[in-house]
Amino acid sequence: MKPVVALVGRPNVGKSTLFNRITKSRDAIVADFAGLTRDRHYGDARLGSREFIVIDTGGFEPDKPTGVVAEMAKQTKQAVAEADAVIFVLDIRSGLSGQDADIARYLRAANKRVFIAVNKAEGMAESPMLAEFFELGMGEPHPISAAHGQGIRSLVEAVLESF
Ligand code: GDP
Ligand code: MG
Repeated sequence: MKPVVALVGRPNVGKSTLFNRITKSRDAIVADFAGLTRDRHYGDARLGSREFIVIDTGGFEPDKPTGVVAEMAKQTKQAVAEADAVIFVLDIRSGLSGQDADIARYLRAANKRVFIAVNKAEGMAESPMLAEFFELGMGEPHPISAAHGQGIRSLVEAVLESF
């Protein structure tokens, strides 16, 4: 069985960009609009000979009960349930938000292996901003740039080594 890795995070942090990097596809919809990728989206990926499956998800707003946002939250929760590990994607440029804290709470309760990817970190890997993400208490944050392809390999290695 290939391990299944879900990419989870609030809208616009760069999940679909990361999905495309990891799967080397252009399948996921990357948008300047928050939350355009509303469905789960599966992709095949490999690192060397290790094959795994990545799930891209729409945004995640667990506390809003209606409409498209609720549907996105539901899809994301299903993706987390299906996953062997979760990459929790955050945005170094906006810092931690209340929504991130909600997602962190949900992921802790879900009892999955979680890896913290702090995206948009091109030129900022040494930034003091990174320290904030330690406070989640979910392990060491991995600074990445999905758009520029930085830090992805070591993130994926950490995930795969956990199996
Ligand atoms: P999603 O909603 O989490 O799937 O986010 P997207 O992948 O659609 O990306 C949202 C926006 O962030 C787009 O404008 C991307 O071009 C931008 N973005 C994604 N990754 C990076 C990155 O590594 N650095 C920067 N500066 N922008 C990024
Ligand atoms: Mg997306």
